[in-house]
Amino acid sequence: MINFHVLTLFPELFPGPLGASVTGRALEKNLWGLNAINIRDFATDKHQTVDDVPFGGGAGMVLKPDIVERAVLSMPTHGRRIYLSPRGKVFNQKMAEEFAQESNIILLCGRYEGVDQRALDVCGFEEVSIGDYVLTGGELAAYVMMDSVIRLIPHVVGNDATTGEESFSNGLLEYPHFTRPAQWTDAQGIVHPVPEILTSGHHGEVAKWRLEQSKTLTQLKRPDLWTIYEQNKPKKT
Ligand code: SAM
Repeated sequence: MINFHVLTLFPELFPGPLGASVTGRALEKNLWGLNAINIRDFATDKHQTVDDVPFGGGAGMVLKPDIVERAVLSMPTHGRRIYLSPRGKVFNQKMAEEFAQESNIILLCGRYEGVDQRALDVCGFEEVSIGDYVLTGGELAAYVMMDSVIRLIPHVVGNDATTGEESFSNGLLEYPHFTRPAQWTDAQGIVHPVPEILTSGHHGEVAKWRLEQSKTLTQLKRPDLWTIYEQNKPKKT
């Protein structure tokens, strides 16, 4: 079982959206574990100060190294230590798959200007970003990362085959989906049939069509992914 240990100044934000729907039910069933820890509990002065002004000047406050270190030392010693940070390696599906194999992940959510660099270095944090933009704090980034990891845990998503067929799992974007009715009339009276192949009952042909759709979509929408897919596909002999 994977346990997330979230170091945050706002433990009341957890499980937040992860407490609903499939991830929430999985939490109730102990398919994953959550330990939200208040960084402020590791402050030692009477005001429970956790931050201070940056050396060298500049705006904002910085989380103090001693407090972060104490919080980390109260955690299990094994497992990855991730600092959610816009400077980090950008999170992707491959990393989600890798994290889903862990049994303990410590997630440090920064606030203000961030965390004293010495604490990050001493505690051996890897920096991971959820994208090239700046959030107010690491908590929303932690939700995103945790959600994408939790849904990969066996039995969390109703049909485990679902997660194996989604975007990025094979290096491609997912094919389009259609549901009933087979002929849908929109508000302007225009009839939209579903692609014929999907109602043919030929599973092999459907799989081929879906793969072609995935390839076309990836080429059009994500040429960066398409290049990697082309480079990695087995060479014909
Ligand atoms: N001064 C920092 C910088 O310019 O890189 C930004 C600090 S941000 C206001 C406060 C906290 O939000 C960070 O310490 C980090 O934990 C979190 N954060 C902000 N953007 C993020 C992102 N794109 N991915 C992950 N965490 C992020």
